[in-house]
Amino acid sequence: MRHPFRTLLLLACFSVQAACQSAAARTASDVREPQTSVSTAAVLPPPTLIVLITIDQFRGDYLDRFGPQLHGGLARLSRGGAWFANAHHDHAITETAPGHATLLAGRFPRSTGIMANRIGVEDAAPLLGEPTGLGASPKRFQGTTLVDWLRAKDPRSRALSVSMKDRGAILPVGRSVSDVYWYFPDGRFTTSTYYRAALPDWVNAFNARKMPQSVAGKSWTLLLPDSAYKEADSVSIEAGGRNFLFPHPFPTDSVAAASAIRVSPWIDEITLDFALDGLNSLALGDSSRTDVLAISLSATDYIGHSFGPDSREAHDNVLRLDRNLGVFFDSLFKLRDSTRIAIALSADHGVGTIPELAPASVQPRPVRVDAAALAAILRREVAAQGIDSTLVAYDAQTVLADRSSVKMNTATLDRALDDFSREARKVPGVSRVDRFRDLLHADTVHDAIARRWVHQFPANSNVQLVITLTPFSIFSGIVATHGSPRDYDSNVPLVFAGPWFAPGRYTEFVRTVDLAPTLAAVAGVKPSENLDGVVLRRALR
Ligand SMILES: [Zn+2]
Repeated sequence: MRHPFRTLLLLACFSVQAACQSAAARTASDVREPQTSVSTAAVLPPPTLIVLITIDQFRGDYLDRFGPQLHGGLARLSRGGAWFANAHHDHAITETAPGHATLLAGRFPRSTGIMANRIGVEDAAPLLGEPTGLGASPKRFQGTTLVDWLRAKDPRSRALSVSMKDRGAILPVGRSVSDVYWYFPDGRFTTSTYYRAALPDWVNAFNARKMPQSVAGKSWTLLLPDSAYKEADSVSIEAGGRNFLFPHPFPTDSVAAASAIRVSPWIDEITLDFALDGLNSLALGDSSRTDVLAISLSATDYIGHSFGPDSREAHDNVLRLDRNLGVFFDSLFKLRDSTRIAIALSADHGVGTIPELAPASVQPRPVRVDAAALAAILRREVAAQGIDSTLVAYDAQTVLADRSSVKMNTATLDRALDDFSREARKVPGVSRVDRFRDLLHADTVHDAIARRWVHQFPANSNVQLVITLTPFSIFSGIVATHGSPRDYDSNVPLVFAGPWFAPGRYTEFVRTVDLAPTLAAVAGVKPSENLDGVVLRRALR
C-alpha cells in the first residue's frame, strides 16, 4: 500500500534541503543570468500602495480570448498597462501553492521551499474560531518577499493579503506577520494564530454582514444574452455530469450556500469588498510609506476544475470578474490617489482543457493516467531489488528516495529506478520519465520541460525521478486541471499598471519571477537576497 506519511516526510526533507542550495546550482540552468542589483533611480516617487491581483487558474490566453467582451478591470489593465503576453511560471509543478509563493519572492520553488501544494500551508497554528481543525501558516516558506524588502527600508510598511484560499492569502507575503485572511466555508473570513490571537473588529464587522449566506435560494445566471457565448452549455462531462446547465441554483440553506458560493463568481466579488474594507481599516496607502495589498481571487480555479476552461461557466465567470474588478478599481481610486498606486496582475498557473475535449490535432490522444498503476509498478520494482519499501515514495509526478539513508544501497536503488522508468514509459499518457540528477546537466535553454523541473527542486533534493505526461493528459479523475510543465499550465498574464510603467503589449518570453524585482525597482527597494527574476526594464518608463 501507499505510505502517505512517508511521502510527506520525504517531501519535508527536500523542503528543508532547499535552504542548502548553492548559488552556483541556482544559476546554472537559467535562461538568463539573474540580475541581483536593482536600480533605485526611479524618476517618479515610489508608490504609496502596491496592489497585486492574482487570479487563480487564469491562463495566459484569456485576456485575448474574452477581450472584446471585457469592459471592466481586466480591460483597463490589459489596455492601459504593460502587458506581457508570453509570461510563464518557469517551474514544473504548476499548482496554487508554488505559484503564489513565487510571485512576490522573485524566486523559483526550489528556493522558496514551496515545491507543491502538498507542502503548502497546513500547520498546527489553529484558525481563529476553529481551534480543533487543521491550521495554517507559512512556516515552510523560505527566504523573503517584497514585503520584507519594503519593511527593511521603512518598518512602517503594512501588508494585507486576502483570498478565498489559505495558501492564496498566506504565500504571497511569505513569512511576514501581516494582516492575512482567508475564507472559511461556513461564511467567515479568518486567520490563524501565526498572525494574531483574535480577529480585528473590522473583520468581525465584515463577517457579521453575512454576505456569502445571502446567495441562498438565488441562482447563477448568464450575465449576457445566450448569443454572447459561443460555448455549448450542454457538455455533460462538465461537473461530473451533474448540474452542468445554466442556471446554477445555490442551496436554500444559508450555511450550504456559503460553501457553494466558492464555485461561483460571487466569492470574488465578496473577497474584493473585503479587501477594500481592510484597506480602509488599516489605512493602507495613505502616507509616504509603501504598503502592499495582495488579493488572490479563487473562483476561476474552482469553476475551471468543475466545468473546464472552455465551458460557458468559465466564460461567464471571466466576464463577471472583469466587471467586479472594474468596480473595485473605481472604489479604490476614490479612496486613494491613482497616480500613487502600482498594480500588478498575474495568476498562479494556467489550466489544460478537459482531456476528452482536446482538439483532434492533439496526438497522442490525451488520457487520464492512473497514478495507482504507476505506484504499483514502483512497488513491484522496489520489491524485486529487495529494497525496504518505506524508503522509496511515489507522489504522482515524482519518485522520492533518501540516498543518504544508511539503509539505502544506492546500486540496487538505481536498478529499481531504471526498471521503473522503463515500465512507466510504456503506460499510456506518460511522455517522459527523467532522472532528476540528469536534468541538472540537460540543455535547459532548448528543453523547457527539463528547465522547469530543475527550477522545481533543489539540486540536492530527495527527488530521484520526475514524470511528465503527454500534452493534456492528467493524473486525476477531476474534470480539468493543471500542474504540468506544459505551456498551457505555465503561461499566465503579467500586467503592470500605474505611472511607472510604459503601456503596451510585450511579446518576449518573461517569467513570473520577474514580477517581484520589477515592483521592487519602482518602489526603490533592494531585494535582500539573490533572486531568480530580473527587472523588466522595457516595462518601465
Ligand atoms: Zn487548481
